[in-house]
Amino acid sequence: MDPISPLEQALHAARALVLADLVAGQVAEPDVVSLVEESVAQRRWWVEQWPEGAEFVAGLVAQDVQDALLERYGRWPLCPVCGSGNPHALDVEPELGPDPHWVCGKAGVKVAAVGSLGTAGAGPRPS
Ligand SMILES: [Zn+2]
Repeated sequence: MDPISPLEQALHAARALVLADLVAGQVAEPDVVSLVEESVAQRRWWVEQWPEGAEFVAGLVAQDVQDALLERYGRWPLCPVCGSGNPHALDVEPELGPDPHWVCGKAGVKVAAVGSLGTAGAGPRPS
């Protein structure tokens, strides 16, 4: 077996982080998981062209999945910080950089690192 390349490691990590956040939001349906796989496949091509971008992959996959979900399911992940007003989605910051975080643009706060939404109280709201 070949050792896993740093590039593969980055892609594996990105998939695991985004899946963890999907599980936290209880949207990890099989077809949603395939959206993650699709994004990881596209980003594999991207990062092969630009290996220096490996540490940006998690943030990019998170944004890809967020965009894909918006078309098919609606906003994800919903902001767990703002209790009132219209439900809104968190944004990934930096859009292209290492150590991506989910932030609430309204309150201007970092909510959680990508992959750690489950510990930030995100998820379906109690009705
Ligand atoms: Zn908010």
